[in-house]
Amino acid sequence: SSYIRIDNVSRRYGAFKALDDVSLDISKEEFIAILGPSGSGKSTLLRLIAGLDRPTEGRIHFEGKDVTELAPHKRGIGMVFQEFLLFPHRTVRENLAFPLRMRNEAKGEIEERVEWVAGILSLSTMLDRYPSQLSGGQQQRVALGRGLVARPTLLLLDEPLANLDRELRQEMEIEIRRYQKQLGIPFIYVTHNQEEALSMSDRIAVINNGRLEALGERQAIY
Ligand code: ADP
Ligand code: ADP
Repeated sequence: SSYIRIDNVSRRYGAFKALDDVSLDISKEEFIAILGPSGSGKSTLLRLIAGLDRPTEGRIHFEGKDVTELAPHKRGIGMVFQEFLLFPHRTVRENLAFPLRMRNEAKGEIEERVEWVAGILSLSTMLDRYPSQLSGGQQQRVALGRGLVARPTLLLLDEPLANLDRELRQEMEIEIRRYQKQLGIPFIYVTHNQEEALSMSDRIAVINNGRLEALGERQAIY
């Protein structure tokens, strides 16, 4: 059975269909890219999967449960956005701890998880620095770390590398792909960049005007 099941999902804004009858099954250990031009409905789809918005029609199940019926902290979904959204006056350690503080985790548990995620992302020696003292790639790793620190069972990424220069982007593509295989959880990676989708993912879902136009192993599509 699928880990995430998207069944005939549409999202309307008035008469306008931002998403139009999208169905997609995602399995437990895959890296899937949602590829499409700006305005095609990618972010809308991510928000629906995250349970931050409700489909107008259709349903989304996460481990067999309707996402809209799960409390946010029970969804186990991490998110990483294009904007790093780091707190400039807080250290890397505090930035990484933030999602756990929001959930009132115990102090010892927070410390342990911050150390864990910093280890995975090679940030262990930078925990007491401020964001301005990090390179662009390191800042993006902190943003990734915040998405991972609560040990999600699914990570959603919305154009996380769009603000990085080309060289750094290619480096981070390889890293992100490695983290996904290491963690063994699905990554759903939204991008308008075909190169990025091709270099990272197991499968690519091509979306255009709110419709799923193609879906397959990356070799089958291009
Ligand atoms: P993408 O992420 O692919 O750039 P979006 O999912 O953000 O696309 O948007 C898809 C379409 O839905 C766009 O035409 C956008 O203008 C429209 N849209 C998104 N959110 C809203 C909203 N809250 N109200 C009205 N239209 C929206
Ligand atoms: P992205 O391009 O990364 O999807 P946008 O800047 O398009 O992000 O959207 C940011 C926010 O604005 C989202 O919450 C989206 O729902 C909302 N939005 C996007 N397009 C419209 C629109 N045409 N009308 C109202 N809200 C919109």
